[in-house]
Amino acid sequence: MEKEHRRNAASDDPDFLLERGVLRRRTFLGYIGGGLATALATRSLNLAAAEEDRVDLPSIQAPTEKPEKLPAPRDPGGKRVGYAVVGLGRLAIGQVLPAFATSKHSRLVALVSGDADKAMKLAHQYAIRPDSIYSYENYDQLADNPEVDAVYIALPNSMHAEYTIRAARAGKHVLCEKPMAVSVKQCETMIQECDKAKRMLMIAYRSQYEPMDRAIVKMVRDNKFGDLREIVSMNSQNIGDPGQWRLKHELAGGGPLADMGIYSINAARFLTNEEPFEVSGSAYRRKSDPRFQEVEESAHFTLRFPSGMTAICATSFATHRSQFFRLHGSEAWAELNPAFAYHGLRMRIGRVANGEEILEEPRIEAGDQFARQLDHLSQCVRRNVLPHTPGEEGLQDMRIIEAIYESARSGTVVVLPVPSGIRGPDPAEEI
Ligand code: NAD
Repeated sequence: MEKEHRRNAASDDPDFLLERGVLRRRTFLGYIGGGLATALATRSLNLAAAEEDRVDLPSIQAPTEKPEKLPAPRDPGGKRVGYAVVGLGRLAIGQVLPAFATSKHSRLVALVSGDADKAMKLAHQYAIRPDSIYSYENYDQLADNPEVDAVYIALPNSMHAEYTIRAARAGKHVLCEKPMAVSVKQCETMIQECDKAKRMLMIAYRSQYEPMDRAIVKMVRDNKFGDLREIVSMNSQNIGDPGQWRLKHELAGGGPLADMGIYSINAARFLTNEEPFEVSGSAYRRKSDPRFQEVEESAHFTLRFPSGMTAICATSFATHRSQFFRLHGSEAWAELNPAFAYHGLRMRIGRVANGEEILEEPRIEAGDQFARQLDHLSQCVRRNVLPHTPGEEGLQDMRIIEAIYESARSGTVVVLPVPSGIRGPDPAEEI
């Protein structure tokens, strides 16, 4: 019920529809009732305040140059959505904490770690008060910290469910890393618990907030490639330390398929806006390699989609880093290579123009994927709108991952139900 409400909020929210030009101004004014009119007045004031904060400078370029673009105004600190980051490992320290400096609607207000010394060092660096450092044991006391609106969960995969549920019960919204959890059952419980607590749950699919990927989604919608036929994708790296949690089944829930192959699965789904109805896969490991005692070394899988599109993917923990997809349509193809890196994505498009085979390399300004996804959730929280990548998005990938493992075990093709309407509204282009 609550999810329905938020979905409707997304499609009915007047601000949201206005921003996308779905409603004309007159229709919009006719749309609102008395109470909502007051809300609109307040909102208009807020918008006016944001406009007042906009700093514009006169252009000094010739009109033939690319127009200068100054960044949109940022929310003042006190108006931003406050986050606690849970799990201070490589992802948190390398990407998530620095992203708050670039974000416009989000701020870092608390840290959660099992290592008090590490947390204190990072608290110094990021100006977090010592009383806003939590351990895994007193994590639930986040409930008493009104500065924390949401938590960002960057723990090993098997801990995502527990820390999401505890956050929701503490009254906090959740931005949870991929894979959402280690089983379909856990994903379903996470969704139910967040719904019960009336808190938002978003899965951190950063690629879906990356301007390059958004550009390809738009080109697909504009039918720039003709009918989509195949997507070929690989995401792999050569992993070291055999003791790390990614190689422990209990903590990781799987090998490269759960950790890296999930990017290819998700890309095939969001680029095409389709869901697979049939999955087949295989998994391989060299038993002599000490790294692969508990999880697969590589996985290979095929997803078949209702339109006739097929995704052919591979993932591995034993090859040099390779991270690409190429989407093949009847009239053109588009690739990102690398596709799943944090930075430095490159797009190429192959097609025929004036009777000649051409390769285009559109230059699209990169975005900070982590800041953009943080700000997306912050905007959803402020507007009570379903996130673009809600819990159901992570659940669907987990269903596909379980089906690939089942196919690898049984040697059969696994048939899946085809859900629809999983995602919330598109993220704003300018966050
Ligand atoms: P990491 O090992 O560097 O960090 C994990 C953190 O969890 C550490 O601070 C560790 O101390 C803590 N921890 C708590 N209990 C633990 C336990 N029992 N075993 C091991 N560590 C424990 O891992 P990471 O690379 O930061 O990955 C964290 C999460 O982020 C994972 O879910 C991973 O899939 C995801 N991730 C996402 C991206 C992305 O691009 N979106 C990239 C890397 C990792």
